[in-house]
Amino acid sequence: MEVNIFTQPELPYAPDALAPAISEETISYHWGKHEKTYIENLNKLVRNTQWEDMPLEEIIRKAQGPLFNNASQAWNHIFYFFSFSPDGGGEPDGELADAIKRDFGSFDEFKKLFVEAGTGLFGSGWVWLSQDKDGKLFITQGSNAANPITDGLKPILTFDVWEHAYYLDYQNRRAEALGRLWDIVDWKVVSERYSKKK
Ligand code: MN
Repeated sequence: MEVNIFTQPELPYAPDALAPAISEETISYHWGKHEKTYIENLNKLVRNTQWEDMPLEEIIRKAQGPLFNNASQAWNHIFYFFSFSPDGGGEPDGELADAIKRDFGSFDEFKKLFVEAGTGLFGSGWVWLSQDKDGKLFITQGSNAANPITDGLKPILTFDVWEHAYYLDYQNRRAEALGRLWDIVDWKVVSERYSKKK
């Protein structure tokens, strides 16, 4: 019997809990089918290879081609879906709030720049908030499966800008889809990522 090396975790909320920002139908396709397939493909690619016992982040740093794509997409979606909560929204506090104000001027300016970066990415990909080793924050765009880990940055928050992330709910209205995600971002989780530093 084949074992799954990487497994898909249970979401920490009900499939309808993020509506209307993300509908139950989108969760069922995006998490239930797209992410499931990335993890299945990742397992097929690593089984009985040198990659089998490697942590997922190390695979992302070292792999190319289909293995990189599936490993990174598997990681990115877990990171994305675990950034949300039905009790989310509002603003961060503590160290992350201070760093956002320091590096972007204000929380509102950060949100504006982040959505602009996500909307301005041509084609499929992700918009990221990451930190360097000194805690400085950066907003970056990444095409397809890209992940800032490969640039030596530590991801703090990401929004998925692939059409599969929003088309069922928002059709072509990417900016609106991204803007609604602020209502469900779990800043407690996101702030803890930052406080861990690198
Ligand atoms: Mn996606």
